[in-house]
Amino acid sequence: MISFDRVSKIYPDESVALDNVSFSIEPGEFVSIVGPSGAGKTTLLKLFLAEEKPTEGDIFFNDTNIHKLGKKSINDFRRRVGMVFQDFRLLPGKTVYENIAFTMEAAGRTDEEIEQDVPHVLDLVDLSSKIWNFPKELSGGEKQRVAIARALVNEPDVIIADEPTGNLDPVNTYDVVQILKKINDLGTIVILTTHNKGIIDSLGKRVIAMDKGRIVRDDKSGKYYI
Ligand code: ADP
Repeated sequence: MISFDRVSKIYPDESVALDNVSFSIEPGEFVSIVGPSGAGKTTLLKLFLAEEKPTEGDIFFNDTNIHKLGKKSINDFRRRVGMVFQDFRLLPGKTVYENIAFTMEAAGRTDEEIEQDVPHVLDLVDLSSKIWNFPKELSGGEKQRVAIARALVNEPDVIIADEPTGNLDPVNTYDVVQILKKINDLGTIVILTTHNKGIIDSLGKRVIAMDKGRIVRDDKSGKYYI
């Protein structure tokens, strides 16, 4: 479970990015975080990943207070979270296989595990045929599916997809959302930030709406309105 308990973040220049925010996310939930630019979404994700420290309040992952962890434990914790970004962030000089293998090597996985698991995650995102291609040979939607496979390969507890469809056309957007749903159905928490109203409405899952550093709505209606 993820829990934010009365969390505020005030940056050194006195910008109030989060103002007394509390919520929790249960195992297996799919949560979309919406809100206008400047609402505090990125700050919220950065605090969860311990890239920034809260000014006030605590953030827990299961029973662990993330901001009380030492450096090594923070790295271990981050490996339990898979990240997917709008701009894919694939390594251009590596093949699809190598991009995913690289993440597994960094996590200390064996060659045998890598040879076994890379084809498996590519199958999950329906991209087995592109295993030896380079990113520049893939469409935007295919690149994002590789990025999702890479985020999944170390079997994280949580996937954070930060505007994952921002660079995709409607067909590829649909595919990426379907894959995120499938991952969630297999038991992984998915946290999605998006400006795409259509996605939120079609998902019908929990929506946390933010504005000016506060949660202005948190419900399961699955509708995008603020
Ligand atoms: P969103 O992701 O919803 O656009 P952010 O979390 O990026 O929102 O920003 C929330 C507020 O915090 C904004 O007013 C922004 O200008 C401010 N902010 C974000 N990052 C920093 C920073 N590193 N230093 C100062 N202010 C920041």
